[in-house]
Amino acid sequence: MAEVTMTGVTKVFPGGTVAVDQVNLSITDGEFIVLVGPSGCGKSTLLRMVAGLEDTTDGTIEIGGRVVNDLPPKERDIAMVFQNYALYPHMTVSQNLGFSLRIRGTRKPQVDEQVGETARVLGLTPLLERKPAALSGGQRQRVAMGRAIVRRPQVFLMDEPLSNLDAKLRVAMRGELSRLHQKYGTTTIYVTHDQVEAMTLGNRIAVLDHGRLQQVGPPDELYAAPRNVFVAGFIGSPAMNLATCRVVDDGDGLALALGEHRWPVPESQLALRPSLRSFAGREIVVGLRPAAIEPADGDHGGPRLTVTAVTVESLGGEKNLLFLPPATTARVESLAAEDEGAPSLWTARLPALAPVRAGDEVELAVDLGHAYFFDPESTEALP
Ligand code: ATP
Repeated sequence: MAEVTMTGVTKVFPGGTVAVDQVNLSITDGEFIVLVGPSGCGKSTLLRMVAGLEDTTDGTIEIGGRVVNDLPPKERDIAMVFQNYALYPHMTVSQNLGFSLRIRGTRKPQVDEQVGETARVLGLTPLLERKPAALSGGQRQRVAMGRAIVRRPQVFLMDEPLSNLDAKLRVAMRGELSRLHQKYGTTTIYVTHDQVEAMTLGNRIAVLDHGRLQQVGPPDELYAAPRNVFVAGFIGSPAMNLATCRVVDDGDGLALALGEHRWPVPESQLALRPSLRSFAGREIVVGLRPAAIEPADGDHGGPRLTVTAVTVESLGGEKNLLFLPPATTARVESLAAEDEGAPSLWTARLPALAPVRAGDEVELAVDLGHAYFFDPESTEALP
């Protein structure tokens, strides 16, 4: 069994930077887990500790039931794939693939068999006698992947392995990675800051911020039920629209006060989140996915919002309309992801053919039935 268990794992670098802070995470045998988070959140450091390339300041790491804290990398039965795939330039593809087997003393017939099989799986057979300089970026990355799988390690550790590839190749390699995982079922820990990669590859995603684990769960769960403002702003593209607003009780029921707007809180939300009532007279953070703000054609019954289009991004199948939010979000920006979440502009989803251009005035309908709510003090989602 190749489960990986991290208990209270902490890394403090000399100088006092706490890169990883008390991480508890159990990865089951055969699972593909993705570590995501903004730059500097500690993902690479955590992976490097599992690999044995970095000491652990505190906590334990187990691989396959064995505490590995004091084991050197080569005794951990792991294989790592990095962003810069570091192939040996003077060796052929075949020699690159077989290298790790040869240094372990594997006999030649066995090396040839495993290299042949790996090359077949990765479509590298016609390239076996080439040197890395004569390969494309995607082919080199496939060789790097091959070097990892050739030994059949218990665990793959991958640190942004696709980030040097162009967009199209990245999509192709993503598919390849999924296929390899289905074929071999090897426990995989994959680091990326790209949440599309995380959503498409992971059986589960672990979101990190400032060295702390924010939430761990299947992609759909993180999207549908983010535990706090950080995860809400980080998972989903374009990012969730977030604003701090006041909850007012205007006699007819609760409403959200955003600038001059009063948006009645639907009964369905109160039924779902009874604790919303306790926010009457206080501030709350409201979150709306772009798809919950649509052009107001027809009568949706929900609140309306007239905005000026700051930018319109056409994505072919749909459009993103970016506009100034209806109230100040200064506070919420400081709560959410610094680089990828909490846009200062809000985004609405428009149909591909919507005749909207920058500068146009657009009437939008807001679906508060699909809104998210967070406590501004704790930043946690409302129960
Ligand atoms: P990125 O996506 O930018 O690679 P990351 O999430 O992988 O970021 P880490 O590389 O793990 O982040 O770094 C976490 C924190 O630890 C950062 O604040 C970083 O500056 C710090 N750090 C990393 N390596 C060292 C080191 N050798 N010495 C001191 N501080 C370090």
